[in-house]
Amino acid sequence: MEKAANPKMVVLARQYRGLNQSELAQKAGLKNWQISRIENGVQKLSETVLEKLSGALKFPVSFFFIDDEIVDGSRSNDLSPMGHYRKRKSAPAGVNDKIHAEINVRLDHLRRLLTNVELTGPSIPWSDIADYGMDVESLARDIRHHIGIPDGPIRNLSEYLEARQIIVVPCCLGMEIFDGYSVILRLRHRSFPLIFVNTLTPPDRVRFTIAHELGHLLLHDGYVPEKEREREANAFASEFLMPTPLISPQLSSLSIPKLEQLKFYWGTSMASILYKASQLNRISPDRERHLWKKMGYLGYRKLEPGSRDIAPETPRLLTRIIDTYRNEMQHDKTDMCTMLHLEMDEYETLYEEEMKEKPRMRIIN
Ligand SMILES: [Zn+2]
Repeated sequence: MEKAANPKMVVLARQYRGLNQSELAQKAGLKNWQISRIENGVQKLSETVLEKLSGALKFPVSFFFIDDEIVDGSRSNDLSPMGHYRKRKSAPAGVNDKIHAEINVRLDHLRRLLTNVELTGPSIPWSDIADYGMDVESLARDIRHHIGIPDGPIRNLSEYLEARQIIVVPCCLGMEIFDGYSVILRLRHRSFPLIFVNTLTPPDRVRFTIAHELGHLLLHDGYVPEKEREREANAFASEFLMPTPLISPQLSSLSIPKLEQLKFYWGTSMASILYKASQLNRISPDRERHLWKKMGYLGYRKLEPGSRDIAPETPRLLTRIIDTYRNEMQHDKTDMCTMLHLEMDEYETLYEEEMKEKPRMRIIN
């Protein structure tokens, strides 16, 4: 018997493109009720309908035959207990669905790419983590030490993490409300910790997100209530990027110019430094309130000065994995598209263009 197409993949592809059912119906030359019946699995996907959906959604027909437990477009807002959003404003449901769909599609790619790849080298001592109890700050400093990060600011956290087999996946998820997502991908007795990070956000924020997600990966294997989970991941990231013994002496007499100066030194946001000073009682509540207010007044709560001039993170492991397929396994672009169920232009954008280093645009006044 021929394998049937998977209606969940239609939902996923539609959400990935940010379309609602009637928009898809219009694009595909189908009726609204047909899309609804298709997505609910009531109407069988004929060859003609699949061709129409493929054209409208810009995925090859093979995409709609993916049958996989990871990919589940029907569960919006439910990435996994480790899914992580830092929202600047509340996102409409369609936007959440789109981010969710993009992550699921990328996870499917990673699953396929990692099936034939062996990562070697030391890893993070995941199993010893439970011994630390709840002292998140000590854990952050120990992990830093363990992975050989010298005292001082971290210029490229991805490089350290990727040397420990944590894959940092750069994504341009199209909207700045999404920061990152982390998960441990399990494939036949092997585990791959993954951190997705939205490279459309400024470099200081990208770095904090990677550290925050590392905190989730290390700390939150079992269930922890969301508020507590986020507090711990933020405390971990803060201490990991700015260890107290190093930054504490620098936090006296904070002012806006001094926060800017520290931001450039640590490669972290002014807000995260001010928050740290508050946590460590290095600033009076009055002074703290004053600085938050001033940062708001100057528009720094939306975009801090110089954020784009901070050294960016440059993850490379995924590019190296793609290169392994392309060069050592001699996959041409068509082979890659077949493996990942992508159309050529999208494959090129996601894996051959977006990840290569581009000169940064800078606006000079
Ligand atoms: Zn989080």
